[in-house]
Amino acid sequence: MKKKSNKDVRGRFAPSPTGPLHLGSLVTALASFLDVKSENGKLWLRIEDGDSQRSKTNFIGLIKQQLVDHGIAWDVWPNLEHEREGVIYQSERQHIYCHFMYYLSSLDRTFLCKCTRKSLSRTNHFIEYLESGEIRYPQICRDRKSVCLSKEQTLRFKSTNRDDFVIRRLTTGDFSYAFTVVIDDYLQGVTRVVRGDDLIFTIERNRQVQAILGFPFPTILHVPVVRDSNGRKLSKTDERSKLRGGKFIKKQITQSWTHLRKNMPSSWIEKVTPTYENYFF
Ligand code: GLU
Repeated sequence: MKKKSNKDVRGRFAPSPTGPLHLGSLVTALASFLDVKSENGKLWLRIEDGDSQRSKTNFIGLIKQQLVDHGIAWDVWPNLEHEREGVIYQSERQHIYCHFMYYLSSLDRTFLCKCTRKSLSRTNHFIEYLESGEIRYPQICRDRKSVCLSKEQTLRFKSTNRDDFVIRRLTTGDFSYAFTVVIDDYLQGVTRVVRGDDLIFTIERNRQVQAILGFPFPTILHVPVVRDSNGRKLSKTDERSKLRGGKFIKKQITQSWTHLRKNMPSSWIEKVTPTYENYFF
């Protein structure tokens, strides 16, 4: 078998433009960068603007600028149609997600669902909550024989572990993160995923879709999210977590590195320290 060379290491940073980067997202960006650059790999920047209600175009430019200001450069993904600074945008990839959605449907791994949060709160079914705080879908529509298109709300994945998560919201046409992340990581040849540990709960969802589509499983490394003094995850709207420019840049990078050193496995820190010193000193 061909030995994997370093040039096969591919990672990505995939922010959602629902706000500018904050200290917590800078930590993930830095970790993603160090993780691949310590092995001479490539880092893609993917803007996860698939949530049409919450994503805002003005944050996209800001996020890119914040990355550049902090010395976190991404590699150029070839956008053939027009120059887009080597970045991919999920909002422009609906046709690709549709293709894989139809394929899953052809394998009978999806179903249309007319339940809403409100209707679920009123049902007689026992409601169980997932660790993420989401409702574990009680499978009401899973075996329905007929559909009424005007009433359907979502297309769900037929899972094997009673977690029939949403693939697409039909009211907006938006695809869900748990689905698009699998498609894009595969199409971008991503071998290593570095993301916040608030997304741990999506691993099983990712793996189920990957297994059915025959995609390899990238290695996933979760970075403990940054919390405030009350133990709450930093929010994009919190003034205190906002990134600043100029003389604060170096301080913010140092703070991010300190967080990684405190929270990441020592073998990983050892691996990436020379890269950190090389790029950020
Ligand atoms: N778009 C997600 C976020 O901003 C990150 C997803 C990922 O890294 O897989 O929280």
